[in-house]
Amino acid sequence: MTFDAQARMQLLFALRSKGVTDTRVLAAMEAVDRGRFVRGIFQGRAYEDMPLPIECGQTISQPSVVGLMTQALNIRPRDKVLEIGTGSGYQAAILSQLARRVYTVDRHKRLARAARELLESMDITNVTILPADGGHGLPEQAPFDRILVTAAAEDPPPALLAQLRDGGIMVVPVGQSDHVQTLLKVTRQGDDYDYDDLRSVRFVPLVEGMATD
Ligand code: SAH
Repeated sequence: MTFDAQARMQLLFALRSKGVTDTRVLAAMEAVDRGRFVRGIFQGRAYEDMPLPIECGQTISQPSVVGLMTQALNIRPRDKVLEIGTGSGYQAAILSQLARRVYTVDRHKRLARAARELLESMDITNVTILPADGGHGLPEQAPFDRILVTAAAEDPPPALLAQLRDGGIMVVPVGQSDHVQTLLKVTRQGDDYDYDDLRSVRFVPLVEGMATD
């Protein structure tokens, strides 16, 4: 077995031991090579269960957190999913294995472009990547069955709550950006929203407006 294959297998063990038990989520994470999404000096650490720096001062999330968030979304094969915070495109690639259609936006045009090129090169065709301020959601494609926010908001953005389909689920880290945040699972029932605290997490902040690069 090559070093990479062994490291990838160890990562799957780590995911299981940290509570990622859904077999479809594990299969999706096995299928997507995280090594493709990490560049430069951190590439050698792609299969470790830790967040790593990417361009534009952002981060690719910790694999076990990606797994737990994806699991909490309980995605069905016909679902249309919106992700806020494309970053490296890794989480979107995982979502693409589970959902019919994925839309993902990032306020950094440079990240959106790089992720689009990477997913194209991996023959992933059901993901649309757009440069946009995710705080407004993506009204032209709403409603969404599932919404995943991968940057920390002070509160669940109202536009996203409105764009969640009845019966839909949103997972979003909430709290002050420089503190530990709470991962929140929001379930919409008609005009009511149920809120469930999942665990503490630490994400880069959701920032208003487009970035200059
Ligand atoms: N999901 C990513 C990691 C996200 S890091 C991955 O799998 O690699 C958080 C990302 O959210 C950053 O790329 C940042 O640019 C983006 N972001 C922050 N605020 C945003 C906003 N208002 N709209 C869109 N993207 C935003």
